Amino acid sequence: MTKESRTPVTVLGLGLMGEALAGAFLRDGRPTTVWNRTAAKADRLAGQGAVRAGSALEAVGAAPLVVVCLTGYDAVREVLDPLGAALDGRVLVNLTSGTSAEARDTAARVARHGGAYLDGAIMTTPAAIGTPAAALLYSGPRSAFDLHEPALRSLGGATTYLGADHGLSALYDVGVLSLMWNILNGFLQGAALLGAAGVEAAAFAPVARNGVETVAGWLADYARQIDEGAHPATDSTLDTHVAAMDHLVHESESHGVDATLPRFIRELAGRAVAAGHGGEGYTALIEQFRKPSGRD
Ligand code: NAP
Repeated sequence: MTKESRTPVTVLGLGLMGEALAGAFLRDGRPTTVWNRTAAKADRLAGQGAVRAGSALEAVGAAPLVVVCLTGYDAVREVLDPLGAALDGRVLVNLTSGTSAEARDTAARVARHGGAYLDGAIMTTPAAIGTPAAALLYSGPRSAFDLHEPALRSLGGATTYLGADHGLSALYDVGVLSLMWNILNGFLQGAALLGAAGVEAAAFAPVARNGVETVAGWLADYARQIDEGAHPATDSTLDTHVAAMDHLVHESESHGVDATLPRFIRELAGRAVAAGHGGEGYTALIEQFRKPSGRD
């Protein structure tokens, strides 16, 4: 075991995710101190070799790297605020889900007590933590990330540092969640439509998967178009998309399937066409997302 691999770690919060995080540190051979408000949740980890702390203060004192994973930022404030000077000189990595503003506010609170702060986002379920399939995002000072990157790599195969702005992890997190919900809602819309025609979702799933993979292949090029502000219709014009969107609205209505989402998709594209972008490619729609609804 190398000296680095023995870097002690403290985990505050042993819910479903916190227990998985602490378990991954232990499996990677890292001395791990744990604390949870409901003490019994530390029992399993203690059986695996974790040191059980009697308080959050005692736990923080045990390691230079402190990982926090609680329900939300109200709980984070409740646990961290009384710690004060105990945070001095430590790196706090907060993997609790929240907003970019909450992340920046927590960074300022930790800095007031002399600690460094990394905000993180977990893009996976507890079962995948510590496996190559796990993906975690981090933002905050590069020096703090570099110092503890080897320990953070205990948590998952894809460990990504996003930049110095503490709010970036939360923003990437909701960006991916937006993607996930839009894909899932599209799948459910299609499954409902096909279901109305007597087709089982299981028959739709492989075709839907191919569709998701095809669209995923477009992302890099589309991102470049958005960044460059040029939206050439290299594959299909917005006008062509709108005609197909009309089919989706019509099919949904005529099969008695909820048409709210198809109508919204059609309306958004219609606004871009009305603004003169019908001959451009799909990414011309970005302006409709940038412009809050109701604003002139
Ligand atoms: P969970 O199982 O409900 O655990 C919540 C934890 O927060 C428990 O340890 C709980 O302590 C603690 N807690 C809540 N309020 C507290 C307070 N006022 N003071 C002290 N401790 C408090 O939730 P989870 O699934 O582990 O999720 C934790 C975080 O990870 C959330 O922000 C979640 O969004 C994020 N996350 C979870 C997943 C997932 O798949 N589970 C995936 C990505 C991100 P007690 O045991 O004493 O109640």
